[in-house]
Amino acid sequence: MRILNARLRETDGLHDVEVSNGRFTSITPAASIPGDAATAPASNDLDGSLRISVDVFDARGRMLVPQFVDAHLHLDYANTVGKPRLNESGTLFEAIDIWADHKAMGFVNKDLIKQNATNAIRAEVSNGVGFIRTHVDVTDPNLTALEAILEVKDEVREWCEVQIISFPQNGIFAYPNGNSLMEESLRRGADVVGGIPHFERSLTSGLRSVDWIFELAEKYDKLIDVHCDEIDDESSRFLEYMADLAVERSMQGRVTASHVVAMAYYKSGYMAKLLSKLREADVRFAINPTENLHLQGWGTDAPIPRGMAPIRTLIEGGLNVALGQDSIADPWYPIGEGDMLRILDFGLHVGHMLNEQYLGNCLDLITVNGAKNMGISDRYGIAVGNPASAIILDAPTDKEALWHQSDVLLSLHNGSVVFEREPQRTTWGSAVQS
Ligand SMILES: [Zn+2]
Repeated sequence: MRILNARLRETDGLHDVEVSNGRFTSITPAASIPGDAATAPASNDLDGSLRISVDVFDARGRMLVPQFVDAHLHLDYANTVGKPRLNESGTLFEAIDIWADHKAMGFVNKDLIKQNATNAIRAEVSNGVGFIRTHVDVTDPNLTALEAILEVKDEVREWCEVQIISFPQNGIFAYPNGNSLMEESLRRGADVVGGIPHFERSLTSGLRSVDWIFELAEKYDKLIDVHCDEIDDESSRFLEYMADLAVERSMQGRVTASHVVAMAYYKSGYMAKLLSKLREADVRFAINPTENLHLQGWGTDAPIPRGMAPIRTLIEGGLNVALGQDSIADPWYPIGEGDMLRILDFGLHVGHMLNEQYLGNCLDLITVNGAKNMGISDRYGIAVGNPASAIILDAPTDKEALWHQSDVLLSLHNGSVVFEREPQRTTWGSAVQS
């Protein structure tokens, strides 16, 4: 397969890209440049399919970028909204209660979870996602959701890569046998160790849960990704302890902190001290802008805090930040479809990041940074030898892709076509002046 006249993010000019046996085999300056595509931005007036013959696509100056990464999702919760009831308060803790009832009332069914999760993956993939890091609730004596998502992971592997985090939604020590269920989930095939220290019954219990998380990760040689400090409470500081343990146990670069909304409340003096510790530990971040804008800041007087981790401060502090959808129609969040450009739009707005510097490389937050969290950077991206997992976006630059919420016109996963989509075309009425 060949893709002609593609714009790559880190190189000037247009390129022809060859794919064979699922991998990129050559990337060279474009041989034939149609019209003024080399200089003009891609635009919607270039209509028609990109496919110009059986296995040749002409990007005509549009961007070829790696498939998007959703760095934080809950596939086993997807499409369960309203079962058994809607979240009336909108808060995180009502959602956790609803989920406990959902489990106790027998709603957990392997076939249904598989069907709902597969539909969620299809929604994400239709928006250009090719890599999903999903948390899966293991506070269930039967580990039904884990079994379901392990099967789904295998069933979709031709068109989407799923990484599974063992996630103790109701706590490691707050839930009966939570610690042994975590360990059992790793034996059965979970890829990453999760946690939820701010939900354990006390500060001490939360700290003890972080110790246990690191012990498991060491024992099974796994990465860590913890729901950390997801609470509107400036005294929630498990992140600092995680950074401390990462250095103490030589696990720098192997730990991701998800959500960390309490950071929105940290004062600058503490933040300055914390940032240097986080850098030393090379802690990575998975931030979920739409989800936490919805879940945080309830029940307070004006001005209402929005409870979003400070994305810009983290990036300027030299830390890796990736974005996630978090939820697709579940007790925590009533909508969501894995549209990472939309998540990015929210993230940049709430992060005060609409300047040229950030707009210029904003796709990092939903591509390479997510790959870094997942530990797949060595095989992710458009480079000779890497698996050909990439999309053509109907835009010439990061900024335009975000600005126009551009369509994905072609998606490849390991060299196979996942879908093709024709550019949108508008036929103006005669009353509209040209
Ligand atoms: Zn989450």
